[in-house]
Amino acid sequence: MASLPQIEIPLYGIGVSPGIAIGPARMFHVTALDVPASSIEDPAAELARFDEAVKKARVTLTALKEQTLDELGEKHAAIFQAHIDLLDDVALRPEVERRLNEEKLSVEYLVNDLIGRYTKMLGQVQDPLFRERSNDLLDVGRRILGYLLEEELESLEHLEEPCVIVAHDLSPSEAVNMDLTNTMGLATDAGGPTSHMAIIARAFQIPTVVGLRYLGSRIGKGDTVIVDGTKGSVIIHPREETLERYRSEKQRQEELRLALAEAATEGPSVTLDGKEIPTYANIELLAETHLSKRAKCQGVGLYRTEFLFINRASLPTEEEQYEHYRRIVEAMAPLPVTVRTLDLGGDKALPSVTAERETNPQLGWRSIRLCLDRPDIFKSQLRALLRASVHGEMQIILPMITGIDQFLEAKQVVEEVKEDLRQRGVPFDEELKLGSMVETPAAALIADRLAQVCDFLSIGTNDLIQYCLAVDRANQRTAHLYQPTHLSVLRLLEKTLSAAKAADIPCGICGEMAGDPVLTELLLGIGFASLSMSSISLPRVRAEIANIHLATAKRFARKVLKMSSASEIRALVEERYESRGTLKHLQTAKA
Ligand code: PEP
Ligand code: MG
Repeated sequence: MASLPQIEIPLYGIGVSPGIAIGPARMFHVTALDVPASSIEDPAAELARFDEAVKKARVTLTALKEQTLDELGEKHAAIFQAHIDLLDDVALRPEVERRLNEEKLSVEYLVNDLIGRYTKMLGQVQDPLFRERSNDLLDVGRRILGYLLEEELESLEHLEEPCVIVAHDLSPSEAVNMDLTNTMGLATDAGGPTSHMAIIARAFQIPTVVGLRYLGSRIGKGDTVIVDGTKGSVIIHPREETLERYRSEKQRQEELRLALAEAATEGPSVTLDGKEIPTYANIELLAETHLSKRAKCQGVGLYRTEFLFINRASLPTEEEQYEHYRRIVEAMAPLPVTVRTLDLGGDKALPSVTAERETNPQLGWRSIRLCLDRPDIFKSQLRALLRASVHGEMQIILPMITGIDQFLEAKQVVEEVKEDLRQRGVPFDEELKLGSMVETPAAALIADRLAQVCDFLSIGTNDLIQYCLAVDRANQRTAHLYQPTHLSVLRLLEKTLSAAKAADIPCGICGEMAGDPVLTELLLGIGFASLSMSSISLPRVRAEIANIHLATAKRFARKVLKMSSASEIRALVEERYESRGTLKHLQTAKA
């Protein structure tokens, strides 16, 4: 009988890392293992097998911990230490022993059953701290089961061929250990934009879509799948014409990438009329320092420190933070690094601190508010940062500032920490600058006063737009109302910049607007002299700057600021961008 043609299935989730991947699906922990229940005669012998499997797991985990410590640092290595600790968990062995004696079933069946129970529980619990721990237990359970079954433990460490990984979710240890060379794309049923996996995927530029909910049940091993991380979609069993369309789009993107890499020059980008515009990178991981340097940035304009704190059950110690910050500034030296103090809360929950549910987390106990209420956390981070400041070029920026009193209170804490370090003879950079993020309309409207008390400003447009337009930045249903070209937003940008200029302090942009090449001319025209963005955006924005006439950009911005409609402004900037044709020129020049 002829087989039925496969139907193309498009699915939509959340794109967390842009780009297109096309390849065979590699299923990973999509469904639970089927381990049949077989009876046993000797519970003691089974328990000995369990102990042996735990021993093997300990040896592997210890080796993984050492290797990760060297390659990715303490934060990632801590994941494996947590797993080693779980192996020693007193509750697990007695539970296995009790069931072996009572049920007289094979130990692999019992361990698999325990894993199944945890998976089920995981699907039901709300408490993020508990979820975290259950996730780790699952990970450890699977490892033990692998040894009991004497099967090669399913792992993403060594993939035989390039493939798209399809998983229910990836645990932190799985994400850290992925074979980066053969992972073309990632698609998961669970997960959100701030999950460990999403952050790693972005850092390593692997096209990724999460939150697909039912992908795992609709796809089989080896099925062709397209992952469009830019649009947040996945297509299973694509038709030939769909494949063709995506292949040519992917090729176009690849050619562009090569053309941009070839055209890249060292140092700041220079406009057609000779104005140097430094461009900086936004990073979250140590590993990104390498990518950002390769993209020819002039330093890190925003280092989001949250990653060290999220997706774990306990707070990092001052020592762990110090090590990490030191490695980041050393990796970037002699280029400068602007480190942002903890911006937790909102969409980035820290279970051990922000466990309480809030009605409006984006307007709630987050960021600098949390830090000022928890001086223990804030001071430990500041001490670590100040100690690391002697190892490179560093400045510190405070997030979510809404008022002068708040900035001064935070500055006072910085001064106290400095004084404490001085007393103890611990060196730090005495000249270290302290700046304020401008990501609330309140901060933008009092930028002239803020500029009197801080050393520099940086505009976080992601939050600024959200708060100015009262639109949740992560809500798909209101995404059309999230308009960077809204006149109110542009006026806040202009107002903040002119306040900084009047006070003679630097003011750049570090939100996503800075990484959108369509907006580059408008931003330069308004007067911004530095931009900070994710490394993936650097080549395109740098090429755009080199194709812009600053004098023309200024005239253009004046015209735009007289307009009213956000959609008309967007259409106009897009038209200008198209007619400049920077990328086409680059490709033609290359050909
Ligand atoms: C911003 O709000 O623009 C910003 C840069 O910070 P984050 O995206 O981390 O909130
Ligand atoms: Mg922000």
